Amino acid sequence: MAKTNGQSVRPPFAAGTFYPADKESLDALLDKLFSAAPPLAAKRARALIVPHAGYEYSGAVAARVFGQLRGQSYRRVFLLGSAHAAYFSGAALDDSSAWKTPFGQVNIDQIASAELNRQDKEVVFLRSAQAADHVLENQLPFLQKILDPTFQLVPILIGQTDEKTIGRLADTLDALLTGDDLLVVSSDLSHYPAYEDANQVDQRTLALIAALDEEGLLAHAAASEEKIAQEETAACGLAAIQVLIRLIQKKGWQSGKYFYANSGDIAGGDRGRVVGYGAMLWAEPEKADYTEAEKGQPRAELNDEEKNYLLALARQTLEKYLASGEVMEFAPERAKLKEPRGAFVTLHEDGRLRGCIGQIIPTGAPLWQVVRDMAIAAATEDNRFEPADVGELKKIDLEISVLSVPQAIADWRGIELGRHGVIVKKNGWPGGVFLPQVAQETGWTREEFLGELCEQKAGWPRDCYRDKNVTLEVFTAQVFGEKNQ
Ligand SMILES: [Zn+2]
Repeated sequence: MAKTNGQSVRPPFAAGTFYPADKESLDALLDKLFSAAPPLAAKRARALIVPHAGYEYSGAVAARVFGQLRGQSYRRVFLLGSAHAAYFSGAALDDSSAWKTPFGQVNIDQIASAELNRQDKEVVFLRSAQAADHVLENQLPFLQKILDPTFQLVPILIGQTDEKTIGRLADTLDALLTGDDLLVVSSDLSHYPAYEDANQVDQRTLALIAALDEEGLLAHAAASEEKIAQEETAACGLAAIQVLIRLIQKKGWQSGKYFYANSGDIAGGDRGRVVGYGAMLWAEPEKADYTEAEKGQPRAELNDEEKNYLLALARQTLEKYLASGEVMEFAPERAKLKEPRGAFVTLHEDGRLRGCIGQIIPTGAPLWQVVRDMAIAAATEDNRFEPADVGELKKIDLEISVLSVPQAIADWRGIELGRHGVIVKKNGWPGGVFLPQVAQETGWTREEFLGELCEQKAGWPRDCYRDKNVTLEVFTAQVFGEKNQ
């Protein structure tokens, strides 16, 4: 885990210049901006693009989408923008413990930040780059005002990048972001063309972003900068927007409305030289809203988002637990993560087994909790190994096997090798269990598989599976890990 200082609070940098420094004036200004931002019938927002100029310029446009977050709560807000103050390559995280604004402090999620750093060596802790940059901070008072204030922050500033960095950052965020997270991308649009030119260029920019046409967007930005008088950039957060486009393609978030104005629309604004402001919102896709729809008919398979949620949960749990002994609580929204299911957590280090413990028969505990508890058990209670320590975690990769609810099978010949795990029970008492992968790893026949289960695992006669008092229950496992995400 990357070293974090953990104690310092980043003081406000932009207060008093980009937005009011005293709490009352800031509160009154945001009330005014939000009162002019009527709520839409939006689904739960997952990602936004918002401008970052002084609130008197771009605040009204930003409020149009921030206003859609009323009453929502998120566990984490990822802030993503392009650095405006410091020059560095890759992307910068902040190892401060919290950010402060006139509304108070918001804690940094240091676990998520460390995970970003762990996944991608070009994403580094660079507090100096974050300290004097307004781009991300300007979004924070809006969020503090409109959201349930318990969220944690993950600020990411992009520096000099290339295609690879952008692709990797999108992949890492894809794995990390869950349904409890919000992504806020901070960017202004055209810088300094005349009013009419800005309107034309920026409307096209927004349409290309809405169409997730990254290639078209890059071509349009380059052409505008070359051909439009006074146009220095079509979007100062272009790299962050590229990351967003790739993420939306992976996540399937649904695009909503977008809003536009530029500094020439402000009373007294100079129309000869303007900056453009666009705000956009993407929401949870229709199909993901299956908490209700699936109640009667749980699907066995977890989707990618649910798998990534459990992997992130297991890693965060271990980082916290091995460092402090504290067991984290989580509140996933997805119905499937709350079903009573069995699960295994397996740790590998340099390709070698480092611990594996599981709960096969559902105890009634929700799946997320089973994964959390098995992660801790696999790291600290597998008696074949010394308990893992927090420093080792960086070298350890996690694999999770989520099990279906076991079903009795009438005839042992119905067992499918490699797909079915089997529990052998006598008079209702479990004697032993094999996971589905045992058959693949050993190459046993069905008779050998069941014979070993009876003899080696249960300590019963080798042909116990033919006994009338013995029942066999089968289950399937969905196996996924950090290595193959
Ligand atoms: Zn900017």
